[in-house]
Amino acid sequence: MSDDRKLPETDEQWLERLGPARFQVLRKKGTERAFSGELYHHHAEGTYLCAGCEYPLFQSQDKYDSGSGWPSFSRPLSVGAVAEQRDDSHGMIRSEVLCAHCGGHLGHVFDDGPAPSGTRYCINSLALTFRDRDDDNAG
Ligand SMILES: [Zn+2]
Repeated sequence: MSDDRKLPETDEQWLERLGPARFQVLRKKGTERAFSGELYHHHAEGTYLCAGCEYPLFQSQDKYDSGSGWPSFSRPLSVGAVAEQRDDSHGMIRSEVLCAHCGGHLGHVFDDGPAPSGTRYCINSLALTFRDRDDDNAG
């Protein structure tokens, strides 16, 4: 992660950095098609980073198969990694999950996850990039 890398400010800059598919999810609160994400059936050990700013958000040990069609995690990497806010769009009251660093839309959090936390972070694959454990060690 490089904190000195400046975050884009305008939609045009974000679009240029992310490409149209990731832009639609992260900046326009889109949702990818269920079962379409390349990180859904992804079981390698490592860290899941925000695709917008490379901030570490989730760890492979907290990822589980919820059957929902989206990558699911029982908890974020740290308490401050993600932010949550009420989302009452689409006729439902849900909690939206955002990257705490760049404000990118990641997905939603539900209370039907596995014990002990009981929480399910339902995250778009397009909102994440994966960094494997070996890369972490390499520094
Ligand atoms: Zn971010």
